[in-house]
Amino acid sequence: MGTFKAWIVDKAEGGQTLRFGDVDEADLMDGDVTVRITHSTVNYKDGLAMTGRSPIVRRFPMIPGIDFSGVVETSEHPEYKPGDAVLLTGWGVGESHLGAYAERARVTGDWLVPLPAGLDAAQAMAIGTAGYTAMLSVIALDRHGLDPSQGAALVTGASGGVGSVAVALLAKAGWHVIASTGRAEEADYLRSLGAAEILDRAELGQPGKPLAKERWAAAIDSVGSTTLANVLAATRANGAVAACGLAQGMDLPTSVAPFILRGVSLLGINSVTTPQTQRRQAWARLARELDLDTLAAMTTTVPLAEVDRVAEAILDGRVRGRTVVTIG
Ligand code: NDP
Repeated sequence: MGTFKAWIVDKAEGGQTLRFGDVDEADLMDGDVTVRITHSTVNYKDGLAMTGRSPIVRRFPMIPGIDFSGVVETSEHPEYKPGDAVLLTGWGVGESHLGAYAERARVTGDWLVPLPAGLDAAQAMAIGTAGYTAMLSVIALDRHGLDPSQGAALVTGASGGVGSVAVALLAKAGWHVIASTGRAEEADYLRSLGAAEILDRAELGQPGKPLAKERWAAAIDSVGSTTLANVLAATRANGAVAACGLAQGMDLPTSVAPFILRGVSLLGINSVTTPQTQRRQAWARLARELDLDTLAAMTTTVPLAEVDRVAEAILDGRVRGRTVVTIG
């Protein structure tokens, strides 16, 4: 057994430490599939894990990185054989199980998804956890019976990873998309993804009324807190909001008014432990419905050794769209 390059988070007196170094293959955790990782991404949660700004990492030492694509090297799992192209998001990888910012990973095959037809390994990670979460949100709104004939769709945190993919998916599905952003300079970018209107996020960021003028039938919110409360307050009767993030905060200072007076629904999205059937359906829809030129336009690529820089930037809201990490 040899060694491989990885980012390593460890615990020290004053908090977490972070270094880029060699890991012994013998130190990989239990699993029935070993994957040669070719690509990963930088999600908001990766920023939290790398910097230690939130207690994301639950085992030390840890290799951070919550998602990857790559090629199976060895497998004792009946569904996978050496050479298979696979991807993984969630399941605690990069949090409690050694993660994706590495040249190798050993995981249970039950966590893997075969690379969907129509996507290569880099495109799969351009989508990554953030884009997959945007798709889960779109599916939740669809299941609620919402469609573009009922009004507009709002996306908050629109210039971010979840937000950019959500704007592109909703616009492609025919929605009039309102993109809420704090970055006025990204208005042209958001229009290029399909946004029809840009909303200054400051309008949603301050405490507001329990009910406001009805403005959208559907929303995908990656921001939480006061923003989500205001999004609910301005959702049309019988509309729904898919809540998937907490970029502004974990709290939700709302009232029951939107729920009991307008029949608004709040749909929770958890991408980490989604069952396999729904996972594969979401990836198949991404491969079919997400325009690959639009995906390329929202994607920046960095080598593994530069992930620490992007991890800081994403927490400061300075990363636009998606970041792919090339490995090996
Ligand atoms: P990004 O950092 O790429 O996007 C977040 C965006 O939110 C920013 O780009 C910014 O958009 C906006 N934002 C940042 N800070 C604030 C603030 N203080 N107030 C209002 N808006 C703010 O992160 P991701 O897209 O990777 O993730 C978005 C959120 O979704 C995170 O909270 C993440 O933890 C969560 N998430 C949840 C998942 C789940 O399973 N439920 C899976 C994946 C992500 P702009 O500049 O346009 O205003």
